[in-house]
Amino acid sequence: DGAIPTDYEIAQHAEKRPITEVVEPFGLADDDLEPIGDYKAKVSFEAIERLRDQGTDDGKLILVTGMTPTPLGEGKTVTTVGLGQAFNHIDRDALIAIREPSLGPVFGVKGGAAGGGYSQVLPMEDINLHFTGDLHALTSAHNLISTMLDNHIKQGNELDIAVNWVNWPRAIDMNDRVLRETVIGLGGEVTGVPREDGFILTAASEMMAVLCLADGLEDLKTRIGRIIVAYTDDGEPVTVDDIGATDAAAILLKDALKPNVVQTIEGTPAFVHGGPFANIAHGTNSLIADEVAAHLSEYLVTEAGFGSDLGAEKFMNIVCRFGEMEPDAVTLVASVRALKYHGQEMWPPNLEELEDENVEAVERGLENLDKHVENLRKFGVPVVVALNRFPDDADAEVEAVLKHCREDLEVRAAESTVFSDGGEGGVDLAENLVDAAETESSFEPLYDLDVSIEEKIETVATEIYGADDVEYHSDAEKDIERLTEHGFDDVPICISKTFHSLSDDASRKGVPEDWTLEVNEIYPSAGAGFLVVLTADVLTLPGLPEEPAAANMELHSDGSIDGLF
Ligand code: ADP
Ligand code: MG
Repeated sequence: DGAIPTDYEIAQHAEKRPITEVVEPFGLADDDLEPIGDYKAKVSFEAIERLRDQGTDDGKLILVTGMTPTPLGEGKTVTTVGLGQAFNHIDRDALIAIREPSLGPVFGVKGGAAGGGYSQVLPMEDINLHFTGDLHALTSAHNLISTMLDNHIKQGNELDIAVNWVNWPRAIDMNDRVLRETVIGLGGEVTGVPREDGFILTAASEMMAVLCLADGLEDLKTRIGRIIVAYTDDGEPVTVDDIGATDAAAILLKDALKPNVVQTIEGTPAFVHGGPFANIAHGTNSLIADEVAAHLSEYLVTEAGFGSDLGAEKFMNIVCRFGEMEPDAVTLVASVRALKYHGQEMWPPNLEELEDENVEAVERGLENLDKHVENLRKFGVPVVVALNRFPDDADAEVEAVLKHCREDLEVRAAESTVFSDGGEGGVDLAENLVDAAETESSFEPLYDLDVSIEEKIETVATEIYGADDVEYHSDAEKDIERLTEHGFDDVPICISKTFHSLSDDASRKGVPEDWTLEVNEIYPSAGAGFLVVLTADVLTLPGLPEEPAAANMELHSDGSIDGLF
């Protein structure tokens, strides 16, 4: 009837092959997998060890990032999945690696996190719901630490933990804003010591960051053990090791650490594993999944959260350093709608206006794209702009973007229609990336680890965000002093900034000028191995919108679902 099928409908009609068959040509045998049903599997630790020992050359690493996100969604995940499929259309082996969704957003704002159209990972309903249980395991492991901590206080508090200096809220995988701040321990002597507490989303837990950076069970234990959960009355850090919860928490995560493998609509193997925030954490899927995938294939396509200023910067400065890897090329996803949004000189934005053809608005918005290209070039990696085409985009608008990239920026650019056409729609993009990845890359992180905390922050703020300067509030200055004293100053920094703008003000589109980055607080994520730099309050437990997606979901007697996007 001409109606465009929903992602769920497309996914239901897609032919899936058993996962063992899908990965076999890439060198994973039945014995290497721990299947969960027919279409999902975890890769065993034995297989990971074997791949490490083989010492084969790693495939080329392609990072997918985007321009400054808009409320419309630019299509980084769609492009990542589509690109993985496109490589197979030009006879290249490719795998993809993306983050696993959290339940909060699935029931909140419409929009799954498993790609879309003809570029999706399957089975999309499983991946968007309980999947292989990793998020549940993380919630349990996180809360086990909370319980051990409060029990320690109740049983006499030998460590002298300051009850109003506990930095380990509880975790839940649900957008339940009423739990953000609460009081626990009410009920008198038998219950425990009352104190203020709160909840964060499981994806925001440092346990998630730790899972995504650990290279095996020993490293997992080391990282969990050194997480700082509280401070003593004298201001000394109290770690998970100190409260004796390290091994128990690691036991709850031993299976979650194994990477999950599924398939795309066209049968490309896809690693979907881990999903940390891209502000207070590094924002990419697990390193262990990247490592396995890179061993198995000629190309690995992986997605970083938000724009080049957040996910990509953190990937280059944090993840690549920890994982001893480097991207061979980056693809920067742009859309006509996002360009028009950045070209719109009004606040609040008028989203309806973005549907009309308007080449001038597109051209006004190009400065945002230009800045992201400039940012990525600072790391010394070749860039390819992917123009993710939406159904309503006009030819003239698309042409204006491609022409600007090629002629003014002298950057490779290709139109991508992988949402409507699957891998076939990404062939030009894939060919450009093959070409880009062949060129000599001179990758380098943006700062050295041995420079001061201030210098690292200033480098990212001025070079990447375009700030004139950095201003530290008095608490942040004290944090820097204390962290430097404790020897926490030689690690990468993870700046938490709004993703809505290159600046720290969500309402400023395009490329904001004449502004100063304001730093409020700096704290160590000692398990992950970086310092978190807070520039504003981060919403670590979002709420549901006025009309939650959950309210329009339907379950039928045959098990099929309506309303899951
Ligand atoms: P990101 O990873 O950048 O947040 P996604 O790839 O998840 O973005 O896409 C955001 C939303 O937009 C999804 O619902 C996706 O299905 C939809 N989308 C992405 N690209 C297209 C396209 N070319 N045409 C139509 N819808 C698209
Ligand atoms: Mg995405």
